[in-house]
This record gives sequence, structure tokens and C-alpha cells, in this order.
Amino acid sequence: MLNQGFGMNMGEIPFLDLVTIHRELRDELRSVFETALDTAGFIGGPVVQDFEREFAEFCQSQFCVGMASGTDALRLALVAAGVRPGDTVVTVPLTFIATTEAISQAGGRPDFVDVDERTYTMDPQKLRVYLEAECTPDPQTGRVVSKRTGGPVTAVIPVHLYGQMADMDPILELAARYDLILIEDACQAHGAEYFSTKENCWRKAGSMGRAAAFSFYPGKNLGACGEAGAVTTDDARLARRCQMLRDHGQSTKYFHDLEGYNCRLDAMQAGVLRVKLRHLTKWNEQRRERGRGYDQLFGQTQQFTLPHVPPWSRPVYHLYVLQVPDREQLRKDLTAAGIGIGIHYPLPLHLAKPYERLGFRPGDFPVTEQIAAHVLSLPMFPGLSPAQQHRVVTEVLQSIAASAKSPAQAAHA
Ligand SMILES: *Cc1c(COP(=O)(O)O)cnc(C)c1O
Repeated sequence: MLNQGFGMNMGEIPFLDLVTIHRELRDELRSVFETALDTAGFIGGPVVQDFEREFAEFCQSQFCVGMASGTDALRLALVAAGVRPGDTVVTVPLTFIATTEAISQAGGRPDFVDVDERTYTMDPQKLRVYLEAECTPDPQTGRVVSKRTGGPVTAVIPVHLYGQMADMDPILELAARYDLILIEDACQAHGAEYFSTKENCWRKAGSMGRAAAFSFYPGKNLGACGEAGAVTTDDARLARRCQMLRDHGQSTKYFHDLEGYNCRLDAMQAGVLRVKLRHLTKWNEQRRERGRGYDQLFGQTQQFTLPHVPPWSRPVYHLYVLQVPDREQLRKDLTAAGIGIGIHYPLPLHLAKPYERLGFRPGDFPVTEQIAAHVLSLPMFPGLSPAQQHRVVTEVLQSIAASAKSPAQAAHA
């Protein structure tokens, strides 16, 4: 094992290493699978309920309802909270497409406001301008109607991107003023915290909106060995509706109060998640150390942009994202050096094919467009070693210094 660190120089550095983590937990995970086989308890049951109780507690929230995925969690949270066909739901164009898929699948129509250029999350100022200038009040319902979609704006989804929460105080205030349902997309933010000036305390992701959606896709900070997700909420009625909706709308077996879906969290995944949840705080702390490590190794630089962490944020570094002038060159150089990278996300959603029908054009959300063209995510996972980080940073600095000198880069600038 020890030698590996020294032999690493020419070795590859993965973007994410899940194999080592699972190797360390092998015995505990094996006993989860064995229990499931021995009891044939695959769907629901005490393991799911135990996990739900523990994850609710982790999020400082009253209830947790396990789901089959983060996308299902978003969709059912919207439906359970009362979003109806024809409603407009506002989110950001800089997110994974599941956010807008869930809106459409709930019968809603996505609309966008741009992100803040430093935090990459929903810009509260732009949300205010949207509600004031791009919507008109409907005297009949007291709600605002989007001029673009013609539908009532009933909900807003801030996305806690890359592990950092959105600026929730002003967004919550606008949601209250305009009677909007606020659903947090916390799929990348298990354990992230926000200092609420209004409440004068730190709040966990998943505890601030009417409800929140989490994903336990394997690569997330808390990941299953397969697909899984959850809704958290303090609203008992909403939690109950989510429980019914995920299980064919039944309150007791074969007595259906409404048409639902099949979005249940299965017991094996719940068992895996219980094992891994016990390590999550430590893993998040290790990610924070890696984040600080990158920050320090890069030092002060004018040539590219490091992640910005405002004083009100304690991020959990789901990703460590740089913004660089010549991303294509850096991507090529790091890939050639055997360093795994990601791009989150190359295509702003307002310009994605499925949303052509909504009539957006390039230039509509310039901050998102700029970010989407220049961001690159570096290797980030709890077991990333200082030696590996050192090598990543050396390669990044080399590539950027070289492309700053090259004529191709001058043409770009
Ligand atoms: C991962 C993710 C989702 C979807 O979660 P799945 O479990 O993959 O369905 C939604 N939103 C964001 C921001 C995500 O990163």
C-alpha cells in the first residue's frame, strides 16, 4: 500500500474512486446483502424506515421519504407540494437535466433565472427581477403569471450546485412574498450548510425549503450501490403524500386513494446507505480538506478562477470546479497526463434540445453560458492523496502557463 504513493508519479489519477471506499466497508456491506437474502426483505420494511429516520436527523429535518432516485424525489416533491399541470416552475439553467425533467414530468413548465457569477447558484437578485418584471400579477388568484409561459408561477427550485448551497435567505423571502413552493435540489449537497442571517444559525441542506430532494447515485457524497434518492421535509402531510405517491397511491395494500408511481427505495440500498451514512461526516470533512488543499496549492492566481466560498457557506465539495480561459486545452492536457476530469455542465439547459420549444436563445442567460463554456472539475473524493493533488495542480499550472503563451490562446482572448 505504502509504495503506491511513490509509484504514483506516472500512474493515473481517477476523477472519483469508489472502489477503495467499498473495499474498506466490504464486511458491513456484505452483511447488508446477506440479511436481505436471508429475510427476503427487498422492498420497504424496517431497514428503509431506519435509514429514513437517520437521514432526516442528519439533515436536521423532521421527515425523510426514501425514493428510487433523486429525479423521482424531485418529481414527487413537486407533485406532493401541489404543483399542478400548467404551472411554471423557476429554476436555473446551470444544473443537471433531472431538475427540469422533474418539473416537466410533474406537468409543469420549466423557466429559468441566471446564476450568480461567483457562487454558480441561483442569483436572488435575478429571481426578484424575474418576478417583478417578467411576470404580471393575476388579480383573480393573487399569483404572478409568467409573461413567457403564460402560466402561473407556483414553485422555485434553487440547486445547491457542486456541494454548495444557494443563497437561501433572500430566495426564501421572495418565495414567501410571491407564495411560491420552494423545493431544494440538494442532490449534490448532503451535509452542506448555510448561515441564515434571518435565523442567526447554520442550517443544513434539505432543512430550509418546503421539501428537498437528494440523490444517492453512486458518485454523490452519499451514494448507494445502485440507484436511490430521498425527499426531506418538515411538513407531515407532504411526507405522507410522498409515501403514498411512491407506492401506487395506496395507504394500505391495494386500497388506492390516488394514482401514484413506483418510486420506492429498496431495502438493500437503504441498508447500504445506513452503513455509509455513518461515515458521511468524516468523508465530507476529508473533501473539505482536499478543497482547502487545492486552494492552497493553487495560491493566488489571476489566470483562472477557483471555487468561491462566501462567508455564509460551508460546502461539502461534491465537485472542485475551476473556471479557465482555454478549457479544451486543459481537458486535453489533463487527459493525456492520465488525470480524470469532468465537465459540469457543458450545455446550459435553456439551449438543450428538449427545451427548443421554449424559445430561448444564446445570450438569454449569459452568466450560465460563460460558466458552461469554461468550467472543468478536478479529481475530488475523500481518499484523494496529497501526492495526487500535488500532481494534479502541477499539471494544471503547466497547461495553463503553456496555453497563456501560445498564439491560439491569444486569438481566444
Ligand atoms: C444527480 C442529480 C440529480 C438526479 O439524481 P438521480 O439520483 O441521478 O436521479 C438531480 N439534480 C442534480 C443537481 C443532480 O446532481
